[in-house]
Amino acid sequence: MISRASDIDEQRATPTDDHVQDRTYRALRNLHVPVWIFDMDNKRIVFANAAALQLWDAETEADLSARDLSQGMSAAVARRLRQYQRDFLESAATYTEDWTLYPKGKPVALKLVYSGYRMADGRMAMMCEVINQVSDDSENLRKTDALLHADVMVTMFEEDGPPIYFNPAARKSMTSASQLFRSMFVEPEDYDDIMFEVHSRGEHRTIARIFTAAGETWHDLSVRRCSDPATGHPAILVTAFDVTELKTARDKARHLAETDPLTNCHNRNYLNQRLDQLMQSGAAGTFGLLYFDLDRFKQINDVFGHDVGDTVLKEAANRIQAQLRFGETLARLGGDEFVLLVEHIEESATLLQRAEDIRAALGKPIQCGETRLTVTTSIGAALVAEDVTDWSEAMRRADIALYHSKTSGRDRCSLFTRQMGRETSERTQLENDLADAIRSDQFILLYQPRINLASGLVESVEALVRWQHPVRGLIAPGAFIPLCEETGMIDALGEMIIRKACGQAGEWHAQGYEFSVSMNVSPRQFEDAALIDTIQSVTHLPGLRPEKIEFEITESLLVGDDAATTERLKTIQSLGFRIAADDFGTGYSNLANISRFPLQSIKIDKSFVDQLPDSKPIIQLIVTLAHQIGARIVAEGAETIEQVRLLKSLGCEQVQGFYFSRPVSAQELFGTISKLQRRAREL
Ligand code: C2E
Ligand code: MG
Ligand code: MG
Repeated sequence: MISRASDIDEQRATPTDDHVQDRTYRALRNLHVPVWIFDMDNKRIVFANAAALQLWDAETEADLSARDLSQGMSAAVARRLRQYQRDFLESAATYTEDWTLYPKGKPVALKLVYSGYRMADGRMAMMCEVINQVSDDSENLRKTDALLHADVMVTMFEEDGPPIYFNPAARKSMTSASQLFRSMFVEPEDYDDIMFEVHSRGEHRTIARIFTAAGETWHDLSVRRCSDPATGHPAILVTAFDVTELKTARDKARHLAETDPLTNCHNRNYLNQRLDQLMQSGAAGTFGLLYFDLDRFKQINDVFGHDVGDTVLKEAANRIQAQLRFGETLARLGGDEFVLLVEHIEESATLLQRAEDIRAALGKPIQCGETRLTVTTSIGAALVAEDVTDWSEAMRRADIALYHSKTSGRDRCSLFTRQMGRETSERTQLENDLADAIRSDQFILLYQPRINLASGLVESVEALVRWQHPVRGLIAPGAFIPLCEETGMIDALGEMIIRKACGQAGEWHAQGYEFSVSMNVSPRQFEDAALIDTIQSVTHLPGLRPEKIEFEITESLLVGDDAATTERLKTIQSLGFRIAADDFGTGYSNLANISRFPLQSIKIDKSFVDQLPDSKPIIQLIVTLAHQIGARIVAEGAETIEQVRLLKSLGCEQVQGFYFSRPVSAQELFGTISKLQRRAREL
């Protein structure tokens, strides 16, 4: 092999010496292998020995150096030449590569060695020496060419050493021609992992962050152990693709798919995946869930608007996030619901302590512009026991515990118990049965008389619903009305009750009976937009006299200063119907406040009747107040003659209670009425 720029020290010391150049040229002319010197600036061959002239199909050196090789040279090749030139200036680099030359347009595939050559004028040229002519079959030509022009980066490293071969794409990406494999990695562990795998399995494929000439990029790397075909020494062959764009796009899509945009927490999707992974890896028994729900968040949105609502949610998320510890993952499920996954715990006490810490943080006032809000939180805690086999069951348990917190007064944390689980199954069963019952109308109405104590006559009857269950028989409303309220089924059931009761009242009124009929409207039903339509539509029922129909609403609806409530009550009254305040005295309303609402009756709650005679003063007060606003008083739940007499002496006009009659069916009502009216006259 000929001596290269690096080996000829004199040349380096006096690079512009014409004499030295002549001597080198003379030596090269004697060689039998093709050697030429390429002026990379002018893209011309400035020297070629006889073998090279033959290879390039040129008569003389002058003929060859007259050829402008920049003609037809691709931009990629030009870029590579500039890169080589920089490398030669930087170090005494030598490259071995397969090239395809096109002397007079005919392709010739060669294995070449290049090195830098300092010309007499000091510029850096490239000395090219042919090692061997690669077989000229077209397959090989294509392979060689493909490797040169491909985007895939191919590099062969000495084991633990510098590169011994790279294709142009690889060179373009490297920070220097002598960059070590290990120094390519942004994360040194990636190199360690790769080499561990390569040593144990011979090869490895991975995606890693790489230092390149263009900055940090992501490469999809295939690394294989091999031996240098030239020397037989152990080597590492690396093939790489730049996947930065793909990875960034994928990461972005993934981030969007797994993040809640409002709070920047993880979303339900992410949490489900994480829980699924944990369950698959047999982690049940080592983690727990805390299910958070802000109390009365809907009210915050309704009263202060959605911007304030959003601020509260973001602040809540920030406060939980600020408390997070190793092994904890926070996700927002939507609305005001968050779930904290707590890993590596086995004790419920630890989980409950975490819940209390976070509840305390959430309970501090939140400043939303001018508004300062204090929000309480209900929490359901569930330690995911080993018997839990899928993540949805884990979530269900935390949800059940949360429900327990909500129904036992909010602003607390409850831990899931098996008893809670059983109650929930029963409730779910009941819910399904109820939905069926509403569809197939399994409800009947009983009627309980309200007696006028002065006249001894039945002045009114209250319609009370019963569920005629095909298996369990007659079920009282206390067992299903609350669930109907909670699930919204009350809207459909309530409408059915109003139609039935008003239909029955219409029949009685058409037959000439004078008593009125009252029926209950539950709070949620009262707020349902469809209520007024239903009430309006019953005015057309045959025989119906609105002035003989009374809607009983619970006192709790009358507590606040709600203009919408007053508006509704007035609309109902403008259609000619009457209104009664039911269960009066239990709703903590300011008694004087009641005068603002249009009411025809006030029904004193049974609890006051039970407490007679101690409750005399309060009953007296309610009676006075009712009379001032022109409402009549009805006492509920009188069971004894003493109670009835006392109520009469206190000025109550009507009494409804078991002393006179239990609720009875429409068929039984008239038999009952004649009996109890006799009783009333004997008072
Ligand atoms: P309410 O509207 O206060 O009805 C009076 C309840 O007291 C009835 O219970 C009645 O049977 C009971 N009661 C009357 N006198 C006595 C007595 O002397 N002693 C005892 N121990 N109880 C007496 P019921 O029918 O079980 O209804 C309970 C509650 O369920 C009702 O209280 C009402 O809030 C609700 N409800 C009943 N029917 C309906 C309905 O059709 N729609 C709606 N939304 N709620 C209803
Ligand atoms: Mg009632
Ligand atoms: Mg009542």
